[in-house]
This record gives sequence, C-alpha cells and structure tokens, in this order.
Amino acid sequence: MTTTQISSDTDAHTEELKALAERAGRDLEDASALEILQWATDTFGKKFCVTSSMEDAVVAHLASRAMPGVDVVFLDTGYHFEETIGTRDAVEAVMDVNVITLTPRQTVAEQDAEFGPRLFERDPDLCCAMRKVKPLEEGLTQYAAWATGLRRDESPTRANTPVVGWDEKRRKVKVSPIARWTQDDVDAYVTEHGVLTNPLLMDGYGSVGCAPCTRRLLEGEDARAGRWAGRAKTECGLHG
Ligand code: SF4
Repeated sequence: MTTTQISSDTDAHTEELKALAERAGRDLEDASALEILQWATDTFGKKFCVTSSMEDAVVAHLASRAMPGVDVVFLDTGYHFEETIGTRDAVEAVMDVNVITLTPRQTVAEQDAEFGPRLFERDPDLCCAMRKVKPLEEGLTQYAAWATGLRRDESPTRANTPVVGWDEKRRKVKVSPIARWTQDDVDAYVTEHGVLTNPLLMDGYGSVGCAPCTRRLLEGEDARAGRWAGRAKTECGLHG
C-alpha cells in the first residue's frame, strides 16, 4: 500500500490519524510483520516507537530492521524480575535501538508510604494505573504511533487484535505487527535471528510481568494464565 507522511502532531489531525489507522489495519492484514513495521516507520518516522516488556526483543528487532535506532520504550515499574532488567540492558547493549526507560512518579517505597505495602494484592488496578498506565501515557505523548507485541493467540482478550488500529484512549495509532503470529512463529524468528529473550521464558513462565503478579504456568494453561493468577484481572490497562 502507499504510505502517508505524517510530519507532526499539528499536521496529523486526530480524525485523519484514526482513518489512516483503520485503513492500514485493513490493507495490511495479510502483510508480513516487517512490511507492517516498514509502513509504520515510513509513515511516522521519529514519531513512532516500540514498547517492550522485555519478555523478548522480537518486535524491537523487527523494528530495528525497518528503522535502525528506533525508540524502544520500556516501563520500569520497580517490581520487575532481575532477569527482565538484564534483558533490557542486553537489548540496549547489542541491538541497534534507542532504549527509553520510563518510571512511575513514585518509587515503590514512596507508594508503600502513601498507600500501604503490597498494594498489588489489595488493589492491583490502582497499582497498575500508577506504575504502568500513567507513565506510559506520559511517555507516549511525543509519539503519534506505537507498536506492541500483542498476539491474537495469547489469550481470548487479544483474539481480535488488529495489525494496525486506533488507540482511542491515547488517541494514537497502535501497531501490532506480530498479531497474527503464533508462539511457533516467535520461536522460529528468535532462532533464525538470535534474538534476545527473557531467561524466565526458559524457566516455566509463559509471560513475564511484575514479579509479585507473575507465576509459572501450569500444564495446559495459555501463555498469560500466570499473570494475576487467581484474580479476574487479565490485563494491566495498557491495552484496554
Ligand atoms: S503488575 Fe502487579 S506489581 Fe506490577 S504494576 Fe500491576 S499490580 Fe503493580
């Protein structure tokens, strides 16, 4: 498909962006992940970023092929596993990307002092709102479009993820270049390109989030079943 150059927020009216996202979602449904990212980087340039939980660096790797030096945004909630921070550091060291680490306004200690310890047990939605949703919203302000690693096969809540869609909450274009991929596709890409992955994926975890809210998978569970296990909560609010 042809690309449209978006030069700045003032040029890119919200309705224009929304229509662009919806059209691209239809036109790129059968495109490869690299073609989707090439469209995104051609269209948005430096106003495009990848967000990564550092579960693996697949989308960051793909995006760096489309646009070397691409911004990769990582949310450091203060509750990550050491392995996740290590993966972030390794990505920064070896890949042609610009890692940007976002942090919440409060440290964990400051949050504990104001709201009491272990807020993640008593009110995980509030904890996620302060430690994930708000910092990401602030961090994405400078971008017109962002990419995620969402996949349709990860859970029922992600089954209808478009490859390009409109993020109504943030009023930005949301790109999910590997939405149509399966776990086998991810594994094959990791092997073929030697992509960095979080070591916890080799240690029984299907999805890696904050340590207090993540456990290993049990036999037969879907990849995200270890997140907020035993609670109705399935998403942190970043993708809702
Ligand atoms: S995943 Fe858990 S620890 Fe992390 S921000 Fe959400 S509630 Fe807090």
